Amino acid sequence: FGGVAKEPPMHIVHVAVEMAPIAKVGGLGDVVTSLSRAVVDLGHNVDIILPKYDCLNLNNVKNLQFHRSYSWGGTEIKVWTGKVEGLSVYFLEPQNGLFWKGCIYGCGNDGERFGFFCHAALEFLLQSGVHPDILHCHDWSSAPVAWLFKDHYMHYGLSKTRVVFTIHNLEFGGHLIGKAMQFSDKATTVSHTYSKEVSENSTISPHLHKFHGIVNGIDPDIWDPYNDKFIPVCYTSEDVVEGKRAAKEALQRRLGLNLSDKPLVGIITRLTFQKGIHLIKHAIWRTLDRGGQVVLLGSAPDPRIQNDFVDMANHLHNAHAKSARLCLAYDEPLSHLIYAGADFILVPSIFEPCGLTQLIAMRYGSIPVVRKTGGLYDTVFDVDRDKERAQAVGLEPNGFSFDGADSAGVDYALNRAITAWYDNRDWFNSLCKQVMEQDWSWNRPALDYIELYYSARK
Ligand code: ADP
Repeated sequence: FGGVAKEPPMHIVHVAVEMAPIAKVGGLGDVVTSLSRAVVDLGHNVDIILPKYDCLNLNNVKNLQFHRSYSWGGTEIKVWTGKVEGLSVYFLEPQNGLFWKGCIYGCGNDGERFGFFCHAALEFLLQSGVHPDILHCHDWSSAPVAWLFKDHYMHYGLSKTRVVFTIHNLEFGGHLIGKAMQFSDKATTVSHTYSKEVSENSTISPHLHKFHGIVNGIDPDIWDPYNDKFIPVCYTSEDVVEGKRAAKEALQRRLGLNLSDKPLVGIITRLTFQKGIHLIKHAIWRTLDRGGQVVLLGSAPDPRIQNDFVDMANHLHNAHAKSARLCLAYDEPLSHLIYAGADFILVPSIFEPCGLTQLIAMRYGSIPVVRKTGGLYDTVFDVDRDKERAQAVGLEPNGFSFDGADSAGVDYALNRAITAWYDNRDWFNSLCKQVMEQDWSWNRPALDYIELYYSARK
C-alpha cells in the first residue's frame, strides 16, 4: 500500500456476529475486538454492531443502556449501547426473538438470522444518520452487508462509505463469500500464505486485484503474562522460567497431574477436521511415549467427534491419569493457565487461515509446534530449517514445524521439540525468552489495515 501521512482520522463500523469476550466462538471474535482496539489506539473512531444475543456475557459489558428503537422487517428493533474492552458497541435486539435462542450459531436458520441482522444494521445506520467511512464485514455471517449496501443503502445517502470484507475462514459459507468479494471495495484474509492458498478458488480468483493477506495480531493487554488474573505468578521474558514453572505446577495441581518436571504439551482448539484431529490424537500418544504430559482443552461441535474424545479421555484418565488430561469444554480462564504452564503448544491444523493459538503461546513463552500451512507458516519459523526465512522478516526462529499430514510429520517436529527440552534445557529456556520478545500484536497489521481503509476510499 502507499503512504498514509497526515490523512484525517476515519470512522469505521464493524458489523459482526462474534466479539471477544462477550460473544466469542473462535478467532473471528478475537479479531473484531483486538483489531478495533488497535485502530482506536492509532486515533481512529470505531463502532461495532453486534446482535444482542440472550447468551451475551454481560459481565464484560460496561454501561449497557437502552439507546433507541426503530421498526424494520416487520418488527421493532431495540438498540442498546455499551462498552466492551473500551470499545463502543451497538447491540441490536429484534423483538421477533431471532437472537433469543441461547446460542450464537447452530440454533435454527443461522443464514436467515444473520441476514436479517445485516439488513437491520444498515437500516440502523441510515435511520441514525451515521455515515461511516468504512463498513467492515466478516465472513459469510456479515457478508450480506456488502451487497445490501451496494444494492440499496449506498443510494440512500450513505454514499461516501466503502465496504471492506474480511475472510476469516473460507470453509464456511463459500457461496455468500463469493458475492461479498464481488460487492466489496477491498477484501482481506488473515495471512499472506492463506491468501495465496485460496487464490485459485473460484470465489476469490476474479477479485485478486482487491484482495490482500494481512496477518492477524493478538491483543497484548488481553493476553498478557505480566497482568493475567488466571495465572499464579505474573512474568515477563526476564523471569519466564520462574513464571512458567509456577504456572505449570498450578496447572498440574488443578488437573491432577504429577507435579514432576516433565515436558508438557498443551492443545487448545475447536475439535474439527480443520484442526487435524488424527494428528492431535497421535501427538497425545507420542508425548506420553516420550515421558511427557499432555493437556488438551477443546470442544467439538460435532457430537460424534465429541463422543470419540470422551472415549479417549476415559481411557487416558484411567491408564495415564497422572500424565494426560483432556478437558472437553470451552474454558477461557483455563486456556490462560495452559498457555502459561505448557512448554509447547501444538497446532497441527490441516489448514489454518491465520491461527491465534500459536501467537498467544509465544506471548506466554510457550514454543509452538505446528503444521506448515496458512498463517502457521507465516508466523512460526522452524529452529532447524527456517533460519533464513525468519531472518528475511527480521526474526529469529521460534518453534518447530512439519509439512505432511501424517503421523511421521508430527513425530518429526514433536520429537525434536521434546528432545531439545530433555537434552538442551538452557537453549530451550533461551528460546522461551526469545519468543516472548517477538511482537505478534496488532502494531504492524493495524497499520496495514489503516492503509487498506484509506486505499478503499481512493
Ligand atoms: P479458530 O478461529 O479456527 O477456532 P484460532 O486459532 O483463530 O482458531 O482462534 C481460536 C481462539 O479460541 C483462541 O483465542 C483460543 O485460545 C480459543 N479457544 C479455542 N478453543 C478453546 C477452548 N476449548 N476453551 C477456551 N478457548 C478456546
